[in-house]
Amino acid sequence: MSTNQSIKPITTERKGNLHIGGCNLVELAQKYGTPLYVIDEATIRKTCQEYIEAFKNYPNIKFMYASKALCSLAITKILNDEDFGFDTVSGGEIYTVYKAGIDMSHVLFNGNNKTRKELELALNLNVGRFSVDNFYEAELLNKIAFEKGMDVDILLRITPGIECHTHDYIQTGQIDSKFGFDMQQIDTIVELIITKYKNLKLKGLHAHIGSQIFELQSFTDEVEILIKELENLNNKFNIELSELNIGGGLGVKYTAEDNPPSILELADAIGKSLNEYSNKITIYLEPGRSVISTAGVTLYTIGSNKTTSEGKKYVAIDGGMADNPRPSMYQAKYTAEVANNNENETELVTIAGRYCESGDILIENIELPKLNAGDILCVYNTGSYNYSMASNYNRVEKPAMVLVNSAQSDMIVNRESLEDLIARENIPDRLKKI
Ligand SMILES: *Cc1c(COP(=O)(O)O)cnc(C)c1O
Repeated sequence: MSTNQSIKPITTERKGNLHIGGCNLVELAQKYGTPLYVIDEATIRKTCQEYIEAFKNYPNIKFMYASKALCSLAITKILNDEDFGFDTVSGGEIYTVYKAGIDMSHVLFNGNNKTRKELELALNLNVGRFSVDNFYEAELLNKIAFEKGMDVDILLRITPGIECHTHDYIQTGQIDSKFGFDMQQIDTIVELIITKYKNLKLKGLHAHIGSQIFELQSFTDEVEILIKELENLNNKFNIELSELNIGGGLGVKYTAEDNPPSILELADAIGKSLNEYSNKITIYLEPGRSVISTAGVTLYTIGSNKTTSEGKKYVAIDGGMADNPRPSMYQAKYTAEVANNNENETELVTIAGRYCESGDILIENIELPKLNAGDILCVYNTGSYNYSMASNYNRVEKPAMVLVNSAQSDMIVNRESLEDLIARENIPDRLKKI
């Protein structure tokens, strides 16, 4: 079984209390407080090694972890150690990766509206590849590169027109997407790059068709379209594009009903469409969710509860939509377990967040042992798009993040303090007088 096909981190054990990475989750909750993000290092490393093993027959494959799934200095270090590069989408991610000491030639800058300031930062730090998304950006990037006397290696982000069956908000490759050049616009932009934007050096094409994808057919269709376009351009313009970035998107298992394909199945499917190109060109893959999701869990402490007059039971946790916005944003589903040793009879409950929104429901209808205040709830598969999407809604401090491995735990992100919440605020002098 591939790690993305598991709901839980690979080191999860029930020894009275739940343990992950050899650490007792109840002790972690006591030591670091809740809500707490816990990341299992062994699961991340195993996943990276699975990717490398599954694609070992492709001599020129490069894995670029999609930092937006979860970006921090320590996480970046681990992925770099496993020979992954980085797909970044902001100055903040680029800065983090840089500060982690990464060779910036292994970084790609992607995004549909990169600012001048971000493009300048990326050029100054020698980011290896820019994925140019639109006409405006091509002109702007060429201008900045010209001012700096630099050449920039670029890919073109294109929209292959593939509808994949995932939530509308996380689908990106369809015709009316906000991302990338339409197929009909590619000739025009390539012509412009060759004749006018002399500081841009076109290396290849880039697409990303969406996220939480379970159908391999979407990937094989995508690769076929990309290869065909690459051949077209090489013939038409007499150039030698030799790089294809096929994005990320492999799904993970949040609940028992989810059946994502394995990493090996993904490799086979992509290999079939690549054919003889698999060793002729450089292939980039940008997995985010499938690398980090399963490695993470969130611990919460149970507080109040309420049974409505119709008999629906809500149990409230000390976190919710600010540390995990996915259920309220995408109707995302999660699996949870009680971390402490609770052998009560089970009952059907709804796990409610603590934030002031009726939509702040973390899990609707889950069968759990009868919960008491003070119990610790472990929500699985929160490594991706949780911390990275977290907010300070209701002015609640963002949780800490702990890395566990071989019975050791280290805080890799400190819990925000009340002081942190006001640290960047000022009261204008004229208000101080009143
Ligand atoms: C978000 C994104 C990814 C990662 O997607 P996952 O579903 O997390 O694997 C990869 N490439 C690009 C361009 C993205 O925008």
